[in-house]
Amino acid sequence: MTRSSSTSVTVRVPAKINLQLAVGPCEADKFHNLVTVFQAISIYDDVTITKSEPGSGITIAITGDQTHGVPSDATNLAVKAAQLIADEYNFIIDAHIEVKKSIPVAGGMAGGSADAAAVIVGLSELYDLDISREESLEFGARLGSDVPFMITGGTAIGQGRGDQLTAALSRGTYHWVLALSSVGLSTPAVYQECDRLRAGLDIAAPQTSDALMQSLLAADPKAVGLALQNDLQSAACSLRPALTLVLDVGEEYGALGAIVSGSGPTVAFLVENEEQGLDLAVALTSSGVVGNVARAFGPVPGAKVI
Ligand code: ATP
Repeated sequence: MTRSSSTSVTVRVPAKINLQLAVGPCEADKFHNLVTVFQAISIYDDVTITKSEPGSGITIAITGDQTHGVPSDATNLAVKAAQLIADEYNFIIDAHIEVKKSIPVAGGMAGGSADAAAVIVGLSELYDLDISREESLEFGARLGSDVPFMITGGTAIGQGRGDQLTAALSRGTYHWVLALSSVGLSTPAVYQECDRLRAGLDIAAPQTSDALMQSLLAADPKAVGLALQNDLQSAACSLRPALTLVLDVGEEYGALGAIVSGSGPTVAFLVENEEQGLDLAVALTSSGVVGNVARAFGPVPGAKVI
């Protein structure tokens, strides 16, 4: 295997929100079949991988403004990604990974999956592994169902566990205001609550929303706002009732649409333009029901060497 002469690489990787998350019934293996429409948005982690002395193994440090609750040991998804690549390509990786984190942790924005995606892309470059797009997606899916999308970015439909991707025909740029929470929600706990709330109901197989796909194709943010849909929203609101108040504030201030992102607790508001985004950000901050507010736009590309 040829080794690259560079000793360090930095990969910028975005966060995601789900414009649609349709959750099928709980299967015998406790998983749910999903249909989801992902959009990658302009909040990023920067992951720098630096070769280190032989024998030092894979080490990690978390820096930036979102470090709370992120493990800095072998349980970090970024380290797991590096180990998977070492095993697949049969070599020992001695490298330090620095994750400069801006993606909210446990916020339904796939921060851990994003870092794993960045490591796959970064190691391919740093060690000249020439990992193909298909292989990257396959390695990603083994680490977590959101990882493949964090490699591709843009707008895509995810099926199965969310890892079987098809590019979505989307035009235009969408502006978002994100109401962040300082305390995350556990994804498994939200799915469990969803099952509890739906107990005894006949749940249909999940389907892509035609209304959403047509609105994205037409670059029509008003129609996209109306078509946002998340089957986990009631469960997230049931576990965190304050989210209902947050959704109300955004709707009151004229957001085009409001949705809990993934398993929450981040709430994403679609707005017409940057100016309306600024107004809504101020309104949310002064409402007292939101911990922190961020603004972003999408779609943006997936994990990229910078
Ligand atoms: P998803 O939307 O994919 O379910 P999430 O955005 O809600 O995920 P993450 O930010 O990925 O949640 O974090 C979930 C948990 O994963 C964290 O509480 C943390 O313990 C663990 N974790 C492992 N690696 C990382 C990482 N690199 N960044 C953030 N969290 C990580």
